[in-house]
Amino acid sequence: MAFIVAIDGPAGTGKGTVTERISKKKKLLNIDTGATYRCVTLAMQRKNIQLDELEKIKKLLDQIDINMENQNGTQRFFLDGEDVSEEIRSKEVTKMVSQVSSIKEVRIKMVDLQRKLAEGKDVIMEGRDIGTYVFPKADVKIYLDADEEERARRRVKQNQEKGINMSYEEVLENIRKRDENDKNKEMGALKVAEDATVIDTTNLTIDEVVKKVEELIEQKKTKIKKEEKLEKVAYYERKETRWKKIVRGTIKGFLAGLYHIAFHVKVTGKVPDEGAYIICANHINYLDAAAIILLNKRKVRFVAKEDLYRFGILAWLGHLFDIIPIKRNKQDLESMKRCIKALKNGELLGIFPEGTRKGLAKNQKVKNGAAFMALRTNTKVIPVGIHGKFKFRSKIYINYGEPLDFSEWKDKANDKEVMEEVSKKIMDQIIQLSEKE
Ligand code: C5P
Repeated sequence: MAFIVAIDGPAGTGKGTVTERISKKKKLLNIDTGATYRCVTLAMQRKNIQLDELEKIKKLLDQIDINMENQNGTQRFFLDGEDVSEEIRSKEVTKMVSQVSSIKEVRIKMVDLQRKLAEGKDVIMEGRDIGTYVFPKADVKIYLDADEEERARRRVKQNQEKGINMSYEEVLENIRKRDENDKNKEMGALKVAEDATVIDTTNLTIDEVVKKVEELIEQKKTKIKKEEKLEKVAYYERKETRWKKIVRGTIKGFLAGLYHIAFHVKVTGKVPDEGAYIICANHINYLDAAAIILLNKRKVRFVAKEDLYRFGILAWLGHLFDIIPIKRNKQDLESMKRCIKALKNGELLGIFPEGTRKGLAKNQKVKNGAAFMALRTNTKVIPVGIHGKFKFRSKIYINYGEPLDFSEWKDKANDKEVMEEVSKKIMDQIIQLSEKE
């Protein structure tokens, strides 16, 4: 994913210098969006087009070609192939650019160009509306500000270095006018994005500002890394070794003992000793899955939301009991493949068709996953009704029903109507069994 840093703020706040430095240090492509408006202004001036000649402006926008190149770390701007990097900083362009950038058609075209220049790249982009409009989802948003007198002083110095002759008064007047115009634009007005960090640079050196911006970039990168790490669920199917069986058996025995101490469990019906089955139960509490896993002679591989694998001890137990992780709210092909493999292997697969705890009571639609697996692999479904309050020493009923055979629809795993019908049949059985004491 591309990483985007947006630097917004009025003229003379140090945006250009800060952006250039950070771009080099952090290897981010520097895109000066003001320069794109300056190129349009220059093109208009060259063709003698006035601000109110909208038709001519539109035509010009269709014809001109603005491009950007990074040469030895500095940015060069090209207008129809000609390097205009110096000319776009002229006094004449500077005076007119803010008004040109207020023209809606110009903005639409330039924002489009700016987004294209940034496409798929890690960028630092400076302007007025980057964090609010061009890239409202930028990773880091910074708004640089400073007193207008200080900004004017900086601009005069910068101009002198570039050989542009403008008095302090002239620069200050220009800055005031541009600020006024930039803040009141109909589209792309200069304003602070809600989630931007404002840095007042009046009394800061460039080094200090650069340091602050760098820190913000680093913080964000660390945050992204952390999130990515969380995104990745560390699950892999572990081999069924003898050692694993012994540990699982011991833990299972111990936890089953605790279970019997905590609740009066009454189990009716049973799971056949061999062969693949899908066990489908109603889901009222996390402890109901535990009952099916712990109180079964055979290993039942439940399908559970992948978050389980984010927590140390749960992840360990998950691996031990071969629980299959599933992503929420999206199709998880990997998970489906694992389920199919388990069934083909003759294992027991546990699924809660409600998808979530008390799904039925919450009026949620029954999920078709179990029906799909049953049809796709032609496996019988064992409905289970669970009933009781998971309170210390209270009674819990776990009623296993007769296996349901759906082989007459075995080729219809992709037929939504059939799957819904099968899901309903499974759920009806579960509900009936859950009412039995
Ligand atoms: O940053 P620079 O001073 O080169 O910008 C020139 C002008 O372009 C600004 O005064 C502003 O009016 C306009 N601009 C804009 N939106 C941007 C960047 C610049 O409207 N993202």
